[in-house]
Amino acid sequence: MKIKNLILPLFASLIISCSSNYYSMEDFPKVEKTDAHYHIYSAENNSMEQAQKDNFKLLAINTFSDNCERVVDVQKQSAELLKNYPEDFAYTATFCLNAWDDSTWVDNTIAWLDSCIADGAIAVKVWKNIGMEFRDKDSVLIMIDDPKFDPIFKHLAGKGIPLVGHLGEPKNCWLPFNEMTTKNDSNYFAENPQYHMFLHPEFPSYEEQMAVRDRMLDKNPDLIFIGCHLASLEWSVDELAKWLDKYPNTAVDMAARMGQLFFQTRENREKVRDFFIKYQDRILYGTDIIDRSQEKESFQKRMHETWLKDWEYLVTDHKITSNLIDGEFSGLKLPKEVVDKIYRLNTENWY
Ligand SMILES: [Zn+2]
Repeated sequence: MKIKNLILPLFASLIISCSSNYYSMEDFPKVEKTDAHYHIYSAENNSMEQAQKDNFKLLAINTFSDNCERVVDVQKQSAELLKNYPEDFAYTATFCLNAWDDSTWVDNTIAWLDSCIADGAIAVKVWKNIGMEFRDKDSVLIMIDDPKFDPIFKHLAGKGIPLVGHLGEPKNCWLPFNEMTTKNDSNYFAENPQYHMFLHPEFPSYEEQMAVRDRMLDKNPDLIFIGCHLASLEWSVDELAKWLDKYPNTAVDMAARMGQLFFQTRENREKVRDFFIKYQDRILYGTDIIDRSQEKESFQKRMHETWLKDWEYLVTDHKITSNLIDGEFSGLKLPKEVVDKIYRLNTENWY
């Protein structure tokens, strides 16, 4: 009896130590993964083809960034894609703001979103044009805590449909180029000066954007909220941790903010790694890749390389360099169960 008590646990621990607690680069095609933030504005399907090769499912974050016709077109196209790939594709709906000043806007928007959800949309996206661009008939900038949104967000909360928000911008957006921490930000704002808030001091500050978003969450405690791009708190895992603690009904995707994670990892790898382990149930992998009928071969190569590079950072402790920041840093080598959550289970749970 005594011997059995000793030997059995010994044998069990031997079995556990034989199967590694970490994934390797070779595991990349074998592990089921989800890119929880990409965009498709193309009738061809180059992204899904590559996703299937790399064992990814795709979540398209449809966004109102242009015009209302496009919102309708993208919704139709996404519903079609869902029919063709019911297991491997999902998408968010969005809504158009053009008729904001009409008395029927709220009711029409709720009816529109309900029809999108009936067709298969699993969440609703709001974008930074709320707070940084869109104005009502009196030229007042509309913010996300505007009371007019309340019945819509209440409706979504009641149905358990998550709101996906890209609100505000990375903190770099309010800084001059020479103070920006990552090259993806300096490149983006060089190409999009209309969104470079350092040049537009008449717009709300970074702190105001964050405060407005939080006032909206305070009003809607039952709303599930997915903060795109690390909830625009990409510059500090400490600040992001505080925010996640304050709002338990939230998760974040890391789309297009790997540069800020790399930057903080270069400064203090253990801190970033501890953050991922502590908040392993609240972080979703995503890239922000846009499929817009680019040349097929180079687009698919870029998708594959982006996914592989991020995998290397998250699962190995290789020394890594990136065109997103200067210098070298080591991968986080997260345990398998954390990787599985970030790459798949959290998306399934939160959406
Ligand atoms: Zn995006």
